[in-house]
Amino acid sequence: MTWLALVVALASPLPSPSPPPQHFDALISAGHEGRPASCIRFPKRHCNLGASGERQWTPIVADEVARALRADGFTVAREPADFDGTFEVKTAAFIHFDGNNRPCSTGASIGYHDSSSSAAARLWRGVYARYFPFRFMNDNFTDNLRDYYGFRQVHASAGALVIELGEITCPAQRQWLAPRLKWEGDLIAYVLKMLIAKK
Ligand SMILES: [Zn+2]
Repeated sequence: MTWLALVVALASPLPSPSPPPQHFDALISAGHEGRPASCIRFPKRHCNLGASGERQWTPIVADEVARALRADGFTVAREPADFDGTFEVKTAAFIHFDGNNRPCSTGASIGYHDSSSSAAARLWRGVYARYFPFRFMNDNFTDNLRDYYGFRQVHASAGALVIELGEITCPAQRQWLAPRLKWEGDLIAYVLKMLIAKK
């Protein structure tokens, strides 16, 4: 290296280990989608494949949320379970269905990391509870819901939620959910549009 090259190298900024966040109106992630193939890139993360059938359903819902938002001109990052980088958005939804070893012991639920998302949670609960005819668990009824790994990569000014649409291991709930997957996506999009409009 010449002396001049050394001076130039020292004067240029240090490369940052983390690229700047990407900006969108909404981030929509389909729970467990892309696994197990993506797990090898995230060895510290539990490679949770979800309840039986969950990986088939979450992309159907997430695709419809993204489609409905984009149709109204909103920008959407539509992500699988594992993705790179960080995001600065107005709102985010991580789509899941619950599974339980004791079938029909849970139902729909909502997870969020802190009180900055509690208004978003109230809004979603108010809308979904009008239709969902089974149990609706208390917010953050498991620690996993509060500390969902995806929250670390996404800052959402109007709220970031894990949305569990029902318990897929409960035959009655599964039967109710099965013909309504696109409708679920439209309902989530409806609520996210309200959240984006408020910001
Ligand atoms: Zn799940």
